[in-house]
Amino acid sequence: MMDALADYRDAQYVIFGVPFDRTSSYRAGSRHAPDAMRKASENFESYNHFFGIDLAELPIHDAGNLEIYANVEDTLRDLYYDVREIVKDEKIPIMMGGEHSLSLSCIKACAKDTEDIGVVVLDAHLDFRDEFEGEKYSHACVSRHIIEEVTDNYVSIGVRSGPLEEWKLAKEKGIRYYTPEDVLETGPEDIVRETMEYMDTEKIYLSIDMDALDPAYAPGLGTPEPFGLQSMQVRDLIRGFAPYAIGFDVVEISPLFDNGQTAILGAKLLREFIAAHAYNNRGSK
Ligand code: MN
Ligand code: MN
Repeated sequence: MMDALADYRDAQYVIFGVPFDRTSSYRAGSRHAPDAMRKASENFESYNHFFGIDLAELPIHDAGNLEIYANVEDTLRDLYYDVREIVKDEKIPIMMGGEHSLSLSCIKACAKDTEDIGVVVLDAHLDFRDEFEGEKYSHACVSRHIIEEVTDNYVSIGVRSGPLEEWKLAKEKGIRYYTPEDVLETGPEDIVRETMEYMDTEKIYLSIDMDALDPAYAPGLGTPEPFGLQSMQVRDLIRGFAPYAIGFDVVEISPLFDNGQTAILGAKLLREFIAAHAYNNRGSK
């Protein structure tokens, strides 16, 4: 990632790629996303005018791409231990996926020392399946596993797709979610405020499944879903949640299916996250 100039030792933000997309059910290719996002970030100025922050002056380290395995279980296991090291070193892990199933390991690694962690997921899909195409740790099941294995202090934003059983389950379990229409009506700032009040915690993990966005903004996706969030709404949600985040990821970009714009947007959102977090934590480290 451009402007990730710090050594690991000095870094507060540790970016890494996980080029894994083996459970992708419709359009694979998110394994290409980490490198596409790095390439896309070469285009951006290091200075963020909104926050008055220069990313090149922040302690950001790019650890490169993690090694992956042919199957999801082994990949999730190693990813968990790698992210644990980052968290133990009191740094913020920032993952470039890869598919959404990977978020589970990052969230578990962040949650281990943080009892009251909340999890915010931006996603078009509920991802509440128990298993999908015979795979328990599929991308289509990640939110189910977060809720059952990590915490039910969970909010999903941008959801508009799922089979009837998943909507029923969301209702049964009282899971808080916002549709794109809710975001349009309420506005990103108030959605952030409501969500933080509901979760009643100071520490969250923020996961961005890029299909939360409308395919007009993000066409290069594993599972595109129309009628989604706008790019500036997602930016404002990230700006609002970043101050509370102890981990962050951008997943599900599939660069084979567009002309680069989804990786460009994903890289920009990642950079926006770092700028927003740094702005709100200036002077604290
Ligand atoms: Mn997802
Ligand atoms: Mn999705």
